[in-house]
Amino acid sequence: MPSPGRYLTALLATILPLVLSAQEPGIRQIRVGNLKVTALLDGQVPLGKELLKGLEPEEAEAMLGGPEPTATSVNAFLVDTGKHRILVDAGGTSSWGLGHLAERLQKAGIKPESIETVLITHLHGDHFGGLLTPEGKRAFPRAQLRLSQIEHDYWTAPATEASLPEARRPIIKALKAMIAVYQSEGAYHPFAPGEAPCPGVQAIPTPGHTPGHTSYAFGQGKHAFWAIGDLVHFGRIQFAKPEVTVSFDTDSPKAAATRQALWERAAREKVLIGGSHLAFPGLGQIKKAGQGFIWTALKGKARR
Ligand SMILES: [Zn+2]
Repeated sequence: MPSPGRYLTALLATILPLVLSAQEPGIRQIRVGNLKVTALLDGQVPLGKELLKGLEPEEAEAMLGGPEPTATSVNAFLVDTGKHRILVDAGGTSSWGLGHLAERLQKAGIKPESIETVLITHLHGDHFGGLLTPEGKRAFPRAQLRLSQIEHDYWTAPATEASLPEARRPIIKALKAMIAVYQSEGAYHPFAPGEAPCPGVQAIPTPGHTPGHTSYAFGQGKHAFWAIGDLVHFGRIQFAKPEVTVSFDTDSPKAAATRQALWERAAREKVLIGGSHLAFPGLGQIKKAGQGFIWTALKGKARR
């Protein structure tokens, strides 16, 4: 039996990260059944209404509450299952005003080497940029990196690079550099459709924003948590109007259909949702409301 002193130290070691993170900006930890979910804010980017497709500018402005671009969160989610630590998405780099994930993890008491799996929802820079350190090394030195094979094939195809405007091509170079680093250390493993990316996690194909965009489902029933990546960029618009898309979706009709279907399912199953670009911490539930849906952000210290 441990001495009272050692017992107290052990107890504090368990509690302290939770207490600290509650006080730290950009870190939010909650329990969902047996899962511990930590939302981590990588930074914010301004998104303007001119990116919206399928909505009149006046209506967009009214729904957004003004003409200014929306300061949009870039969130990553760390899920601790009790057996594994899994990170969903890795944020971007400082060149975009992002790249705060590493310091947030540190403040939350989570060592990058303790993360065993990194799941990527899709290969946009604000999701894979944080996979390498500024020195070009693996930011998660012991993690296996997993993402959809469809997504890998699309972004590494010469035709995709050729189809991009000149200004967006450097991102492909950055992507290939990242893949090369993880591949050279045997840590890069795209998964086939229907394959579980790691034990206890289901991949839900959610194509449209990009061809292999994938959401990840943890837990079950009322203790389920789904990280849904970029199914929504404008929370004030795309729950009420899932048909509204953004100009950087690769396939607008598919993105809209995928969103509608996922909103239906998430509302029916009452799952906890984590959205990459919903206002930090990006956690909440989707409910049906008339023809559309509403987002109910997780409040206070709510636990489920
Ligand atoms: Zn994104």
